Amino acid sequence: MHGIDYLVYDSKESWEKIQAKARKTCASRSEYGHDSGDIRKLSYVAKNYEEAEEYIKSQDRDWYDCLACQFYEYPNLKSKTLETIDLKIKELNTKYYDMDRKIHYANVKASFVSCPSCNSKINKDFIKWNNCPICRKDMRPKTTLDNLAKLKEKITELAKLRKNEERKLQDKNIKKAKLKWLVKIEYHC
Ligand SMILES: [Zn+2]
Repeated sequence: MHGIDYLVYDSKESWEKIQAKARKTCASRSEYGHDSGDIRKLSYVAKNYEEAEEYIKSQDRDWYDCLACQFYEYPNLKSKTLETIDLKIKELNTKYYDMDRKIHYANVKASFVSCPSCNSKINKDFIKWNNCPICRKDMRPKTTLDNLAKLKEKITELAKLRKNEERKLQDKNIKKAKLKWLVKIEYHC
């Protein structure tokens, strides 16, 4: 097996101390207590955790490469826009969940339902979920599946909007941010 972890350290500590701690953690999680050796220190400061992880991934040389870069960590940032987006996402997620878990053919009057994919006639009493017991494909009508897809699309759009708003807030509050190290360790376990 193969383990990858991302460790966060305060930049107030010296790099030597941080490196020693990360190597110790890596050894303790590795199967044979194997020391990772030096950790590559990248001279890059990411805007946030997410970007730091992306950057580290882009610089990874594989073969148990252990490397690190700095990033800004912000306090919990709030805004009216963010709150509104969060509420909307929550609402749509509930709507999606309710729509998705409903057994579509639970209340049909006919005693058999035919699967649109494999044409099997399924006895209604055996319909306990929305997938065909024969071919396993979703038996719900296209309109229902389209509505679910549309809802999911809306949720994805809102998530993008949320990210943009969060980035804007982070830029505005860069002075409140703390500089941290993100260290990626990789080991055999
Ligand atoms: Zn089927």
